[in-house]
Amino acid sequence: MATNPRLMPEDPAMFTASVVRTERISPSFQRVTIASDELARFDWQGLDHWFRLFFPLAAQTELRLPDVQGRLWWKSYLAIPDEHRPHCSNYTVAGYRHLGDHAELDIDVVLHWHQGSLSGVAAWSVAAAPGSPVGILDQGVLFDPPQDTSDYLLVADESGLPAVRGILRDLPADAVGTAIIEVPAHGDVIEVDAPDGVAVHWVPREASGELAGAAALRALRAVEAPDQASYAFVVGESGLATEGRRTLHRAGLPKSRITFSGFWKA
Ligand SMILES: Cc1cc2nc3c(=O)[nH]c(=O)nc-3n(C[C@H](O)[C@H](O)[C@H](O)COP(=O)(O)OP(=O)(O)OC[C@H]3O[C@@H](n4cnc5c(N)ncnc54)[C@H](O)[C@@H]3O)c2cc1C
Repeated sequence: MATNPRLMPEDPAMFTASVVRTERISPSFQRVTIASDELARFDWQGLDHWFRLFFPLAAQTELRLPDVQGRLWWKSYLAIPDEHRPHCSNYTVAGYRHLGDHAELDIDVVLHWHQGSLSGVAAWSVAAAPGSPVGILDQGVLFDPPQDTSDYLLVADESGLPAVRGILRDLPADAVGTAIIEVPAHGDVIEVDAPDGVAVHWVPREASGELAGAAALRALRAVEAPDQASYAFVVGESGLATEGRRTLHRAGLPKSRITFSGFWKA
């Protein structure tokens, strides 16, 4: 029996907010903090709680959001004319704070350079001026351990670091297991608040030239075979997610005890 609802909320809510500040927190991460009165009603579940992030493209003067009816919003999003349709990508709640009658939410964005320049959310994250509008569509939590979980195996590349950091923070204090977190550089290794029984292995890629996720996959293959009652959460570049799941399943872990998600595709 699952302890957390695996799927998104039945009636996901859309919130509007504006950028408060943006700051570089490590070589490969930019933290964008957004805030609004509406966000005070965001039902933050902790763990890897994620959302769809909408913001206007550079040439757009206002934020046009899709209508949300139950779980349906995609058709309405596509129906927004090209010149008004906002950017949309998936992000994890890296931090959430109630401050009187409003709330702040942090988004930790991976800065991935392609031929020396940033695009998409990464470019927005460094350039977003205070007051810039955003929309947030609540999508709930993916982390879904069965109640009889004996130990946890968490595996991620940098795109999954905010998710794994949130899970480590919110696991029961007596939880045991292993977390493998691959990041682009040594400087991206941050303090995580993990239960004493969970060993956290950082895998900095540095200038190896390897595809993101390859080193995390090697580290996963080197850990002890999972127990029948283990639970695994594997997220990041799509090869890491699918190969990670295959590796664990071959090692004897039932597919029903593995949550995997390709967070992006190289
Ligand atoms: C549930 C969920 C939660 C997520 N949480 C976070 C989060 O908290 N922080 C975060 O940074 N990402 C997170 N991601 C991943 C994020 O949604 C993707 O990286 C997304 O592609 C970024 O959108 P974009 O529009 O900037 O790039 P896209 O337009 O999707 O891609 C543009 C180019 O950038 C490349 N690219 C995209 N992401 C990366 C990356 N991480 N590294 C290297 N190259 C990349 C693509 O291959 C493509 O060539 C999450 C994804 C999911 C599904």
